[in-house]
Amino acid sequence: MLETFRQLFGSAEGARIYRAPGRVNLIGEHTDYTLGFVLPVALDLATHIAAVPSPDGMLRIYSQQRRELREFTAAGIPQRQPAHDWTDYPIGVAVELARAGFPLAPANLLICSSVPEGSGLSSSAALEVASALAFLSGRAIDPLDLARLCQRAERNFVGVPCGIMDQYISIFGRRNSAVEIDCRSLGHRFVPLPESITFTAVNSMVKHALAGSAYKDRVAECAAAADALGLPLRDFSPSQFESKAHNLPPLVARRARHVVTENARVADFVESSMRGDLARMGRLMVESHRSLQNDYEVSCPELDFLVDTALSIDGVYGSRMTGGGFGGCTVTMLRPDALPHFQQQIVSAYEARFQVTPQLYPCHPSPGAGEGPANP
Ligand code: ADP
Ligand code: MG
Repeated sequence: MLETFRQLFGSAEGARIYRAPGRVNLIGEHTDYTLGFVLPVALDLATHIAAVPSPDGMLRIYSQQRRELREFTAAGIPQRQPAHDWTDYPIGVAVELARAGFPLAPANLLICSSVPEGSGLSSSAALEVASALAFLSGRAIDPLDLARLCQRAERNFVGVPCGIMDQYISIFGRRNSAVEIDCRSLGHRFVPLPESITFTAVNSMVKHALAGSAYKDRVAECAAAADALGLPLRDFSPSQFESKAHNLPPLVARRARHVVTENARVADFVESSMRGDLARMGRLMVESHRSLQNDYEVSCPELDFLVDTALSIDGVYGSRMTGGGFGGCTVTMLRPDALPHFQQQIVSAYEARFQVTPQLYPCHPSPGAGEGPANP
């Protein structure tokens, strides 16, 4: 990474490297923006940014994935408007930092990421959090404030009405642990995962055009449901909800039903994990997928195929789409020794059906963002 930095900017002297992980969400999908519960894991896939202060008043950002260098006048950052491209993520963060009393110091930045873009593993939050750390350059900030600031950058500057999960887990991730986040209190607890299982993400390699607009529709549909019911969705148990659901238009009721039952599944999954009830954990993942597929309608044929195929493979406990949907990844819970066989089976089935090779990412629960390591 430092060699690339040298080639781009002449010298890497004094470079500091910051790392922010992507994530896979085990269960609790499309529940964060209604302030419900989620259970993500930070991954060893991460975005690294190398940064060196620049003497000439400019902010330069190079993305190795984009092979693109962009330049900004550091002093002009607070006035910038969105450019509607990838730079909105780091610049949105710089704008929010300036607002929060951390003015931007001129610098040269190199972004290198192993998080696949637009695949539901949250390359966007990894980029935001790594950018924030690079811009802060060691200045102290409360980690929860940092997560909220990065979320604001994505909401206000990029224009995605996202919840807090992705930024939160990128900061609060922990080795060998999932993190149950209460998106209203913004508290969390670490959930150690049974050692006899592992998780793997499978990338469908597609992203359907519907993703952005449907996300905004779901946010609006959930708000309409909470309005009509007079209570936030997270305050309903499934049975309380069913006793009121007839007051809602059928489509809104289905959307809300997903959210209410999904919140209940997160609690059930965590308890099952503590008890080591692997079969129940797997069943809850499948129920989550069916709810996203049928009630929330954010799946797609490629994701459904990956889930159904995974469930037919020996050693698999459960599988579901993860992330926003309409493409991107599934996450599958399986026996560690079944992984090679699973990989071979799922790849050949998916290739035969869609003529595309899916990529697999074994999920190693990893620590949240910070400075280093030096050699990504
Ligand atoms: P996800 O967060 O699931 O990966 P998003 O659509 O939320 O998908 O975010 C993907 C966007 O984030 C990309 O289209 C790009 O604009 C930006 N991005 C992420 N990583 C990088 C990177 N390494 N270089 C440039 N842009 C990036
Ligand atoms: Mg994202």
